[in-house]
Amino acid sequence: MPHQPPLPDVASLWQETAVPRVAYPALAQDVRHDVAIVGGGYTGLVTALSLARRGLSPIVLDANRIGWGASGRNGGVVSGKFRQSLGDIASAHGIETARRMHMLAQQAVEHVGELIAAYDIPGAAFSASGSLRCAHNLRALARLRAETEWFRSILGDPSYRILSAGEVAAETGSRGFVGGMLNVHGGIIHPLNYARGIAAGVVRDGIALHEDTPVLRIWRDGADMCLETPGGMVRAGQVVLASNAWSDLTPATRAIQRRVIPFRSAMIATEPLQGAAAGLLSSERSYTETRRMMRWFRKSGDRLIYGGRGAFGRDDKPSAFAALQRAMVRQFPELSGVRVTHRWSGLVAMTLDSLPHVGRFDDRVVYAAGYNGTGVALASYIGTRVAAFVVGEKPDLGPLTAGPWRPIPLYGVREPAVRAVAGWYQFLDAIGR
Ligand SMILES: Cc1cc2nc3c(=O)[nH]c(=O)nc-3n(C[C@H](O)[C@H](O)[C@H](O)COP(=O)(O)OP(=O)(O)OC[C@H]3O[C@@H](n4cnc5c(N)ncnc54)[C@H](O)[C@@H]3O)c2cc1C
Repeated sequence: MPHQPPLPDVASLWQETAVPRVAYPALAQDVRHDVAIVGGGYTGLVTALSLARRGLSPIVLDANRIGWGASGRNGGVVSGKFRQSLGDIASAHGIETARRMHMLAQQAVEHVGELIAAYDIPGAAFSASGSLRCAHNLRALARLRAETEWFRSILGDPSYRILSAGEVAAETGSRGFVGGMLNVHGGIIHPLNYARGIAAGVVRDGIALHEDTPVLRIWRDGADMCLETPGGMVRAGQVVLASNAWSDLTPATRAIQRRVIPFRSAMIATEPLQGAAAGLLSSERSYTETRRMMRWFRKSGDRLIYGGRGAFGRDDKPSAFAALQRAMVRQFPELSGVRVTHRWSGLVAMTLDSLPHVGRFDDRVVYAAGYNGTGVALASYIGTRVAAFVVGEKPDLGPLTAGPWRPIPLYGVREPAVRAVAGWYQFLDAIGR
């Protein structure tokens, strides 16, 4: 099967500020391993580490370079949350499930720190500075207040508290918010260095890791699973699909492709800030807005990064970046004359229930995907659970593992559907609902 050469890395701020890249060779011979992992992002890499710790011999195959996908270009916000709120999880699955999901999300955040310590990844620059959700109107603030109370009284989690408009202005430098909800759990990270650091750990642990190695086809041959790549065939007992939002690169990962909706998320980074602008976001947390078409922002060194929805379709559009820049300047007028030096985007994998899914498609194929844009901590943690599935355990992660994970009905019309939903959300935001 003909295949495309590896795709170029995005020109992100992370690429420019990362530790030097180590190149891992493309697979160039036929090999046999216990487990073949398709995708070398956080999910695939952590799965490999966990499998090796269990005495198995995994191989990681990535079509591009480590960190080429979402794991190298995301916003670096380390948050213990799911896209579906815990309140909604409680309504759908009961309060005990919500408690367990909350604990899982917290463990996922702690696991990031543990991985960094265990594999000595100082370049990840993990700062446990917490996150601040900034209310764009009083209705949103009332919701945050109720959420904070719910976290405290129902989940017994005191790490949330409400900040006044003045406190949010002092934290962010923006007068555009009426208050906010501070969560001291979580923080920010250099996502590409984190991915590269985990990859270095994978290789140090003696695991085979190949870049520029697209898996073109997967089939069963007697007791083996066979994976065709341009340079050689992999035979393995088990396969892990860890291709997430980029599951359309080859037909091999179609099972994931049919279950996620890729949604483009974009961000811009300013030149190093000086003067009054340098005082913005002084607590260096991650910051999100309460609008449905959510925008978020953080510092990285002395630059400000501002993110939100990207263009629809396969490619970036200058107009989407220009819209982000306009929104940034509306929020922070001090940035009106400041140059934007980096613009990049990537695909997040949305799911119909706004939750990730992990489990088995059949006796040979395990999957984990669909982090809905909150995968830095979750994908890293879920990789450990994927390894449990591979060795035949059945970890119970509530709705994340409640199978079977069904394909999206009417998959062919997902793009117009996403546009329609986004348009509706923008309308609701515009009228302040
Ligand atoms: C722009 C953006 C901003 C984000 N911001 C945040 C954030 O601030 N906080 C947060 O928590 N989450 C964020 N996310 C989400 C988070 O980055 C992802 O959930 C997470 O990185 C998913 O990791 P992964 O390993 O599952 O997938 P990826 O990192 O995307 O890795 C998948 C890999 O599979 C490879 N692949 C695909 N098909 C094949 C094939 N056939 N053969 C071999 N390899 C293949 C690809 O090359 C790719 O490297 C963001 C995502 C994006 C795109």
